[in-house]
Amino acid sequence: PGPNRTTVDRAVDLTIELNPECQTKPDLEGAPFGSIFTDHMLSIEWTLAHGWQTPRITPFRNLSLHPACSSLHYAIQLFEGMKAYRGADNRLRLFRPMLNMDRMVRSAERACLPVFDQVELMECIRRLVELESEWISQSDPASLYIRPTLIGTEATLGVKRPSRALLYVVLSPGLGSYFSPGAPEALALWAEPKYIRAWRGGTGDCKMGGNYGASIAAQYEAAEQGCQQVLWLYGDDQQITEAGTMNVFLHWINENGVEELATPPLDGIVLPGVTRQSILELAREWGQCKVTERYLTMADLITGLKVGRVRELFGSGTACLVCPVGRVLYQGENLHIPCQDSSGLLSTRLTKELKDIQYGRIPSDWAILV
Ligand code: PMP
Repeated sequence: PGPNRTTVDRAVDLTIELNPECQTKPDLEGAPFGSIFTDHMLSIEWTLAHGWQTPRITPFRNLSLHPACSSLHYAIQLFEGMKAYRGADNRLRLFRPMLNMDRMVRSAERACLPVFDQVELMECIRRLVELESEWISQSDPASLYIRPTLIGTEATLGVKRPSRALLYVVLSPGLGSYFSPGAPEALALWAEPKYIRAWRGGTGDCKMGGNYGASIAAQYEAAEQGCQQVLWLYGDDQQITEAGTMNVFLHWINENGVEELATPPLDGIVLPGVTRQSILELAREWGQCKVTERYLTMADLITGLKVGRVRELFGSGTACLVCPVGRVLYQGENLHIPCQDSSGLLSTRLTKELKDIQYGRIPSDWAILV
């Protein structure tokens, strides 16, 4: 371990400077995702020479950055997204947060940013959430979105591994509605091979800002076509990879006549979603159908729809949990995805189980008390 491995990021050293001017809590109804922030933030600085500095909770405030810093020029940057929920028992829970910490370390390695001790960072985040606990109301869709961020801050235009970095965490309360109000229950997706979200050898399996900034032009074009999200395709065979910023699942009778819940494999171009992993684990435990990580192409979907073998197509992610797809616009044609009576759908059962765990209605070691 070189200096990159020093762990001065010790949660026991955490200092707290309280905000003397806390806001009156705004009405969250109708507030767009990620537009409101709590009163405090967590910051930990890192330098190559001295490793991680003391973690600090301070009043929420703007950063002061050198205009040349590498996160602004070369996107030497990464982030995470996770949520805290308040259960009927009034206790706060995080959902499998160590999976986010592990993914953040993998992103840091890929971005040449410093790695850190996942347990220590998690403890600092827990302290921040605890301090801001009043921001989470006790209703099922309400949650507090946690956004850890790690940026290169070295003041040089050199394209290199940064010798200074800043890890910070901000919190954004919300009512759980990620898509704009009035959006239909089932999503419409625009499947267009001309835009590619990620490629083998690239960074699509890491949560690096550049992946997202580069995707928004396609997102707006999807909106112009009357769709909410892009269905990201890859390769000459038009493999289905992800839906917007969600992993994607197909529940169908497969080409061999077997009932299957299928999602694309983690082969470097798919983000390893925490929700994706949880759905796979639950569905495998239930044993209701075959559960497979496999390639799915547009041709597979079209054939499946034509002969009535598709039960449902849905996206998964922290923001919306499980999100059914009602329509895919592909080569100017609308492919209607069946969404039968939702009570019988696998996605309905998965949503209920995941929410019951997150809100503490059923005990699970996936729910970590704050
Ligand atoms: N794919 C992409 C591209 C994403 O940005 C996200 C959100 N992190 C997901 C999938 C879903 O991941 P998770 O279930 O961990 O939120």
